[in-house]
Parts: sequence; C-alpha cells; structure tokens
Amino acid sequence: MLVFHSDASLLQNPPTFFRHGRLMPHPETSERYRVLRDAVTGAGHVLHLAPDAGVASIKAVHAPDYVEFLRTAWDRRGELKNVGEELLATQFPRVGMDTRPVGLQGQLGFYLGDTSTSIRGDTWDAAYGAAQAAVALADHVGDAALKGEAATAYALCRPPGHHAYTAYGSGFCYLNNSAIAAQRLREKLGRPVAVLDIDVHHGNGTQGIFYDRADVLTISIHADTSSYFPFYCGYQGETGLGAGEGFNINMPLAHGSGNEVWLAAIRDGLDRVAGFGAAALVVALGLDASEEDPIGALKVTTDGFREAGALIASAGLPTAFVQEGGYLCEALPRNLVAFLSGVGG
Ligand SMILES: [Zn+2]
Repeated sequence: MLVFHSDASLLQNPPTFFRHGRLMPHPETSERYRVLRDAVTGAGHVLHLAPDAGVASIKAVHAPDYVEFLRTAWDRRGELKNVGEELLATQFPRVGMDTRPVGLQGQLGFYLGDTSTSIRGDTWDAAYGAAQAAVALADHVGDAALKGEAATAYALCRPPGHHAYTAYGSGFCYLNNSAIAAQRLREKLGRPVAVLDIDVHHGNGTQGIFYDRADVLTISIHADTSSYFPFYCGYQGETGLGAGEGFNINMPLAHGSGNEVWLAAIRDGLDRVAGFGAAALVVALGLDASEEDPIGALKVTTDGFREAGALIASAGLPTAFVQEGGYLCEALPRNLVAFLSGVGG
C-alpha cells in the first residue's frame, strides 16, 4: 500500500503537558512518527513524500484567520514578556464571549482549546506537512476513483488532526487532516463522501467542520465521553444541524469494550456509509483503541485491528486512511501493520 508522509512530522516535540495537577510527559511526540514509519517500511509498504500543494486545501476546511494565527503566532512571541519554549493559552472564552482579542495571549485561548495544544517554533511546519500528506492521499485515492478504481492508501499524518475545528485547534491537533482529505475528495469527485473515525477519542473537530452539511457523512466510534476527552460532545444526540441533520452519527462505547463491541460498531458504521451512498471513504485511523494504549479506554487487540482493516476493505469503496492518535506502546507499530494487512493491497 502507498504511504504518504512528510519529513516535517519529525518536528513539533512538546516535552510535557499539564494534566491532573502536574506536568507529565507529552504523549504526542515525533517518536510516534518514527515508530509508525519504520513499521510500515518494515512491512514492505512504499513511502511517498507528499509534495507541497499549498494552503488552499487547508483553507477549504479552516478559517483563514485561524490558519494565519497558526502560521505567525510563534513569530509574534515578542508581544509577551519572558516567553518560554512554547506559547500556551491560559484563559479560554466561554459562551457569549465572542470577540477576538488583538493581543497574542488572548488569541492563544481564542484559537487553541486546551493546555495540551501549544505553539512552538516548528508547530506550523509540522501541522502543514501532515496536512500535505492528507492532500496527497486524497489526490491519489480520488484520481483512481475517477478512473473507476477503488484504491486504498494511507497517510502517516503527525501531528494528528481530528480534534481541530474550523477555527481552533485542541487535543494535540492543529489542522484537521481527515477533514482536509474528505473535502478534497468531495471536490474532486463531485459526489458525497463519508468519514469513519475509529480513534478511541470522539472526532469532535471533524464533526464540527461538517455538522451543517449533508454532503459529508461523519461517523465517530469512540469511548464514552462522559468521563473522557473531549467531555463536552460525542453523544448520540448530536445528529447534525440544518441541512446536516441526520448526517452526523456518534457511537459512544462503554470503557473497557473489546473487539466484539468495537467491530460491531464498525460494521454498523459501514452499513450507514453504504446507505448514504458515499463515493469515497476517509477513515480517521486512530490506533489508541488498543488495549495497550497509554491514554486509551478500550481493549482492542492486534487481531481486532486486523479484522477492522478487513471489514473496511470489504466495503469496496475508494478509501483514504488518515493516521490520527495512537500512542507509544509495544503494540502500536504491530497494530498499524496488522490493520493495513487486514486492508490488503
Ligand atoms: Zn485519540
């Protein structure tokens, strides 16, 4: 299988994040990229460096002012006194606080949803590179679809993207790689597409980006968010808005659920994709549903990931697999290889 990637995924290494009242090692580091890249090359998949396709596909799903903030925030650090190695929000707007402040510190809270998502000197380059991998992936799958071929390919995107909304980032995510790929496929094919998010966390940014649209079906299978990130969304009652009503599906699973429950949800999701008539599928491929994941909440095994890949392949759709979460543990590379072997090709 073709694997699209960017060397910029070696950048952006936040050492710590603040959790449970203490500074802890940040799980979203470039070592994830190295481990996953070595795993796919070791399994015989072919790496392709993504070309620079520019910012247009990013701005197709993200607000121009947010993109400009991400691109320039670090260069503006002189606005603040005594800046450290990263810029971090310390205040966040609540409902009814809608004005974008001029100053950098206020904009950090306006554009970044939590304290685990910081801006460093190389954050933009890393996020931009990951987005280019998603664009190259969508172009490959889309071009094949236009020739009548149901191609499958994978983009090793890092940092991940599915918690990034139209106009703000959160949850280690800056640019929504899965949404960028889905929108690119939607434009290229001129037909509806679907996103199936199997990361252990709710794909809240993707949901938000397409929430009022009927041409992109969004489905998220994730651990119940009532006591788990992102807490404030991910529930079954969130079904879309306006024209998008009925085109967002959330499948929260009980914490501790294993292969049987997870795979049944994927089957259900694929049935919904088939009923929708999607011309192509984007899979937001988090690997953090693993029983070994350090921040996971489900108990999926390596065999479960292999079977998930086979199930999704059996749908027979042009499919773009976009790397999302999945954190360092012994099973991480094994689970990616197993999933891709399940997909075949
Ligand atoms: Zn995740």
